Amino acid sequence: YSAATGTFRSLRPPVPLPPPEAPLSLPAFVASLLPSLPPAHPAFLDAATGESLSYPAFLSRARALAGALRRRGLARGDVAFVLAPAGLDVPVLYFALLTLGAVVCPANPALTPAEVAHLAALSGASVAFAVSRTAAKLPPGLPAVLLDSDEFRASLQSNGGGDDTASIVTVRQSDTAAIQFSSGTTGRVKAAALPHRGFIAMAAGARALFGRPRPGRERTLLTAPLFHSMGFAFVMRGVALGQTTVVATDAVARAGVKGVVAAAERWAVAEMTAAPPLVVAFAKDATCRLPALERIICGGAPLPVSAAERFRRRFPDVDLCMGYGSTEGGGISLMIGREECAHVGSSGRISENVEVKIVDPDTGKPLGVGQKGELLVRGPAVMSGYVGDEEANAATFDSEGWLKSGDLCYIDQDGFLFVVDRLKELIKYKGYQVPPAELELVLQSLPEVVDAAVMPYPHEEAGQIPIALVVRQPGSKVTEAQVMDHVAKRVAPYKKIRKVLFVDSIPKSPAGKILRRQLTNYVQFGTVSR
Ligand code: AMP
Repeated sequence: YSAATGTFRSLRPPVPLPPPEAPLSLPAFVASLLPSLPPAHPAFLDAATGESLSYPAFLSRARALAGALRRRGLARGDVAFVLAPAGLDVPVLYFALLTLGAVVCPANPALTPAEVAHLAALSGASVAFAVSRTAAKLPPGLPAVLLDSDEFRASLQSNGGGDDTASIVTVRQSDTAAIQFSSGTTGRVKAAALPHRGFIAMAAGARALFGRPRPGRERTLLTAPLFHSMGFAFVMRGVALGQTTVVATDAVARAGVKGVVAAAERWAVAEMTAAPPLVVAFAKDATCRLPALERIICGGAPLPVSAAERFRRRFPDVDLCMGYGSTEGGGISLMIGREECAHVGSSGRISENVEVKIVDPDTGKPLGVGQKGELLVRGPAVMSGYVGDEEANAATFDSEGWLKSGDLCYIDQDGFLFVVDRLKELIKYKGYQVPPAELELVLQSLPEVVDAAVMPYPHEEAGQIPIALVVRQPGSKVTEAQVMDHVAKRVAPYKKIRKVLFVDSIPKSPAGKILRRQLTNYVQFGTVSR
């Protein structure tokens, strides 16, 4: 910690990165880290079917696909919207697009057609990749490539013509690799542009912190969806470490905790990613066995200390590595390393090459060790900005380029971060982002609703659930079920309102802004269970 600048830096040695101006794509970088492996060593494995893709097959398919897409006219800078269920083709597609310098813009296939159209427009996508089942949700006019078509299958086969896209297309580290959707600290969903260099730094950092897995212990279960920033980053991390990434496909996800436990057992995974609700479930379920597991990487939302302690008692041999990060921060900014896992309650220590500050949320004044304030992050992985939204960029970055996290935190004398509260509007349901402002607009589209506010409500299994405070038209008899149904029809299932409380008014500032901190006064904590 430097009192002069108010900056906290990593206690781990900096990880050398390639010179920033050197042309280099993310796939080229992670493939260069790939250790020498037996040829049949799988890069990706489908947790449900057992189908796998060896590293040579994976890299050759990605090369063939990049060539085919380039010949189709896809070029550096083009934004490719991806609306596809998790499967072995998705990492191949990501690699191919990135090799071309095209921008990967993945979205949740559970979104409604209206939500998809909104995100596709926000991102500036010129082409979409989908499967027959999800293509119907795409806006008309956006050309689509179907991953389950014969043409796509054929494009994965090498044409043997030595057509090497990587040597034809120059990709810069400052080029955007991915666009990820996030509501950030305010309002509605936005399109965060993340550069190749950010993921290059992430992969180099992961390699330094975790090293190469021991032979026979290479399998890692990726439970984060491939469209999520964590899923995208872990596809790249898996290659950088030479792991076998076991992809939790829809069939696994549908089976919930049992599906994840079964997949972990079946594939004897040594590592897995888990959003906090999964760790809570493991800790509570006395029948759950995770015999081969050595490490869980958990983050994306707070993990209650009681659950972390229970987990450690039940699974003393599993390292519970907490990570703190955000879409805008380019994934994990703070991470607990192996030897630090006993530090229950902390969300991590500052990652290599990352700087953070804790500032007074009102004045912006830097604060010191142990003092609570807003966490700011700076480093190569931080987004270059929201696409086409200068107003949001001005609100999100300070004048020195620090990213405001919207999280109230402190850092203790040993460099461990503790997240105390969320200053921003975001609700996190099972690790998924639910922006209240978006749901408030949907509620207000109901004629009998005069005003509405959406807020998080603590929930053991999901972390938080979105609940609505609603002001009805005088004399209106609209019911809780009708209001919830109206929303449920218009948003993806994970954004559903799960409780409605009818109130007389919503607390607002003179400027008409909802006073979110006062909303909790309306709700008796402990009375809502859903
Ligand atoms: P996302 O952009 O969806 O990854 O959400 C980022 C937000 O999730 C952060 O700003 C935090 O509010 C929350 N978050 C992520 N990791 C943690 C963690 N380890 N502990 C507490 N909150 C977290």
